[in-house]
Amino acid sequence: MSQVYDNDLFEAFANASDNIYVYVTDVETDVTRWSRRAVDYFDLGSEYLRGVKDMWPQFIHPEDRQIYLDDISAVFDGRSANHNCQYRVRNRHGEFVWVECRGSIIYDNSGMPKVFAGIMTRLDNPNKYDSLTHLLSGYEFFRHPIAEAGTLMLVGVDRLRVINSQHGVLFGNRVILYLAEALAQYARGAVLFRYWGDDFLVYGPGILPQQMMTIFRNVYRLCSIAEKDGGPVNFTVSAGIVSCERNAPHAELVSRAEMTLTYAKEQSAAHVAVYSPELETLQSRKNRISEALIRSIRDDFRGFSLVFQPIMSGQGERMVGCEALLRWAPGDERIGACYPNEFIPILEENGGIREVGRYVMREAIRHAAAWQTAYPGLRLSFNVSYLQLEDPDFVPSIAAEIKWYHIDPACIVVELTESVFASDTVLVKQAFEYLKQHGIGIALDDFGRGNSSFWMLHQFPVDYVKLDQAFVRGLTDSGSGIDDAIVQSTVLLCRAIGSRAVAEGVETPELRSRICGFGFDGLQGYLFSRPVPVEALEAFLAAHWRARS
Ligand code: C2E
Ligand code: CA
Ligand code: CA
Repeated sequence: MSQVYDNDLFEAFANASDNIYVYVTDVETDVTRWSRRAVDYFDLGSEYLRGVKDMWPQFIHPEDRQIYLDDISAVFDGRSANHNCQYRVRNRHGEFVWVECRGSIIYDNSGMPKVFAGIMTRLDNPNKYDSLTHLLSGYEFFRHPIAEAGTLMLVGVDRLRVINSQHGVLFGNRVILYLAEALAQYARGAVLFRYWGDDFLVYGPGILPQQMMTIFRNVYRLCSIAEKDGGPVNFTVSAGIVSCERNAPHAELVSRAEMTLTYAKEQSAAHVAVYSPELETLQSRKNRISEALIRSIRDDFRGFSLVFQPIMSGQGERMVGCEALLRWAPGDERIGACYPNEFIPILEENGGIREVGRYVMREAIRHAAAWQTAYPGLRLSFNVSYLQLEDPDFVPSIAAEIKWYHIDPACIVVELTESVFASDTVLVKQAFEYLKQHGIGIALDDFGRGNSSFWMLHQFPVDYVKLDQAFVRGLTDSGSGIDDAIVQSTVLLCRAIGSRAVAEGVETPELRSRICGFGFDGLQGYLFSRPVPVEALEAFLAAHWRARS
């Protein structure tokens, strides 16, 4: 005979709600089946238990036990039709929670009790504990007294979204559990809350920020690999730490911890940061800029414009091309001036770089088209960030734009930094080959700033190599011969592989005369012109353009 409780009906009731527990007893065998949630919450050990009549009262608060026993015996004696009473029962955390327990007996044809079935409803806050990790929920943090000065840490899994999409949500849950277990192991004496998603709050009364840092480092070390059928998967965690006074307001602590965590994820190689007011100033400027950038993009790129910096021939006597550089007027006086070195990384982070990058590309090529009749052969370069190459349509759209204007593709140069090539992904390779095939110029920007420059050139033979400004500047102090040697060998290397070498950051006449001796193919720098708006560039062009003979 199939058991009375092993059927779809049981499953349906068992899963009806988070704060309802279902039980069904086969009276003849005295075996009771409990729903999975009940097993977890009361730590029953198994879904199937024999002799529950004697066992269950042990879970009930001593003061309420008699009420329960009286009520249940009235049902089994036939004095009462239904079991219905409220009492306190101990959960897996050792706490007593109020429940309402209802049940009734089903009799067989001969009038003998066959099944006793019912449900138990939790009367406390059902969301007190998180059902995945069994830790206190985030909501509980706000009710937890900050009774003692100490430290609060917000810690989360890095890029869980990516883990979820690559390995599935169930695996993502496993990663969250790894972190919860590591925290339980190392953060002794602290109170743990599953704050939100993969973020945990760790409140350590009497714990100093430095001690919390040590806890984090241990957790970090433990949380690096999760086992999956296909083999181990690596992941990392990050944390923001904030010290707290006694009775500090919860909301303020959490918002500081969140800000610090964001900072740690983005800026800290160690994946951890401790809150300070300076950090808050930095972060809030960043947030403000990020929001203003998004507004500008939505508002048809309002505030964005291009300026152009001339690129001169190797001796600096005539103009051969120019580089388009992005400018942005935030239109928010609290932000003030904001230059690419500050806003480009923010655009890369908030995803805006894709749209802005297209804007730069279209505008740059539009100007190049306008100049080509009067100044045939004038080259125009613009900068492309790695993230733009992740968009499979971007590179083809450069070729399409060039075709639309009937420009010689060799006059358009895409400047990519070394970090792009260093990532050496399939995407970069494809983009590189596409540009080559279509005859579009490629420049390796900031050459020498990374640590694999020569290897990079070997892998990706580019048309232009732009030596990083730091080396050019280094030439002014004639003390060390190192910079001379680097500059000299770069030029020789470029010549050997058929690339043209361009020096950036030529600021003074002295530098110019020194650098001319090295045999560069192009020079760029404030000495000739700062980056200027299009009208000024055209004036400069009229004065310094001489077609190549
Ligand atoms: P970059 O591509 O290396 O551009 C050269 C930077 O050096 C420009 O700064 C330019 O104004 C500056 N510069 C030129 N000559 C001199 C000089 O003689 N002395 C000194 N001290 N500086 C000089 P800018 O315009 O502030 O741009 C900074 C960086 O921002 C660029 O470095 C580039 O990496 C990025 N960037 C600018 N525009 C764009 C863009 O449209 N897209 C992308 N993805 N990045 C851009
Ligand atoms: Ca550049
Ligand atoms: Ca550069």
